[in-house]
Amino acid sequence: MSYRLSSKKFARVKEKIISYMKINYNIKKVTFLDYDSLKKDSDRIDSESDGIYYPDTRKIYVRAEDRSYVEQLITLLHECGHVVTISNNAHNYHIYYSNSFAKDIKEIKSNNSRIDLIREEIVAWEEGFKLNKELRVNIPWNIYGVEYRGSMITLIESLNFK
Ligand SMILES: [Zn+2]
Repeated sequence: MSYRLSSKKFARVKEKIISYMKINYNIKKVTFLDYDSLKKDSDRIDSESDGIYYPDTRKIYVRAEDRSYVEQLITLLHECGHVVTISNNAHNYHIYYSNSFAKDIKEIKSNNSRIDLIREEIVAWEEGFKLNKELRVNIPWNIYGVEYRGSMITLIESLNFK
């Protein structure tokens, strides 16, 4: 199954997701920007990050540079998945993203914390895929799953389990 997006459709779908998040989750701002600007905005971002959500300011950033429309939408859905997860209080969201814990994956000391982070990411990917259906974005699983699995593999490799 393929999924084609014109720039018009991309803009429409993007706005639909953003306005849904503003209305239902009080998200303040969603910004699409190039990697250097994304990096400048955060001391918590690593070279693999395609997006980030800041719970304290309720802002979402999505890396746009060199990425296809569908990749940007998948990142947006994933970050929205984090928003939903925190809002549902699905589990203690303080493992990686809070200021007090770890600014870098390499600082995570215990295997339990590594597993908590993996769980947090999986839940966000799953919530993102639910939104994909609910909002009729309809990115097929075979495309969403490529990003999902790729991101999880990168994460798990970077965690250095002992
Ligand atoms: Zn994530």
